[in-house]
Amino acid sequence: MDQFYVRLLGTGSPKPNKERSGPAQVIMIDDTPVLVDCGEGVTRQLLYSDINPVDINNVLFTHLHSDHVFGYSHFLLGGWSLGRTKLTIIGPKGLKAFHEKVLDMFEEDIHYRCSALGISGEGLLDVNVIELPDEGGDVPFEGINVNVTYTPVVHNVKTFGFRFQKGGQSIVISGDTAPVDSLVQLAKNADILVQDAAIASSVFNNKSSDSNIRRVWEILKKEHCTPKQAAEIASEAGVKCLVLTHLLPNTDKEEIYKEASEYFNGTVIVGEDLEKINMKSKVF
Ligand SMILES: [Zn+2]
Ligand SMILES: [Zn+2]
Repeated sequence: MDQFYVRLLGTGSPKPNKERSGPAQVIMIDDTPVLVDCGEGVTRQLLYSDINPVDINNVLFTHLHSDHVFGYSHFLLGGWSLGRTKLTIIGPKGLKAFHEKVLDMFEEDIHYRCSALGISGEGLLDVNVIELPDEGGDVPFEGINVNVTYTPVVHNVKTFGFRFQKGGQSIVISGDTAPVDSLVQLAKNADILVQDAAIASSVFNNKSSDSNIRRVWEILKKEHCTPKQAAEIASEAGVKCLVLTHLLPNTDKEEIYKEASEYFNGTVIVGEDLEKINMKSKVF
């Protein structure tokens, strides 16, 4: 079927949150799902979205922070145990070492499943790992009707933003980032921008009487965006629909919607887990 949309699987952050799973989203390209990040709970969120983890043969990682990879081991082993026989994972340098550590950690378990249960290691022990060069460019995708490009963004570890282009339609995932021009360029005229907007003033701000909150705010502002900054990026890039994500517990949804709407004229969506956002979500 000819379709192109993003489904938010997890709109949360490193802080455990009853309402939000860890950061992850799936881009649906015709009938092929591509996973971006593997936050906590990602495999279950796929099932809730009626996407069989077996059908995910490609995963992109924006970066390797714990909140974006907590769900990987379950996705890797769980999908394999359900019958997945082919997997390519793509991300920044360090991805191969991370993947191998996961295999090491479960070596005994994997050995047991392969030998006692008679399952082949195909799809688990032969995962194709692609580490992308730091400077950005094209993502080497095979057999999928989409063009994917990426750019480095500004975080405290190597982090990429990704743009999916299918014909005249585009979806951009910012990754965790402070405001940066490379992201504005990546998101130029995109239909949908799924954007880090972690620093809600209801949670962290520089006017708090609590010195620790002020201190953390100073750190976070160098590596994440406020809803206002997210809106400025969307506005500058000429994006049609801005989706705010990577939300901390106790974020005031109405407040961040209002803040972003003040600086961006297009559609603003405060992301919710399992929400599907398609090209119709934009304002013409
Ligand atoms: Zn994160
Ligand atoms: Zn991060």
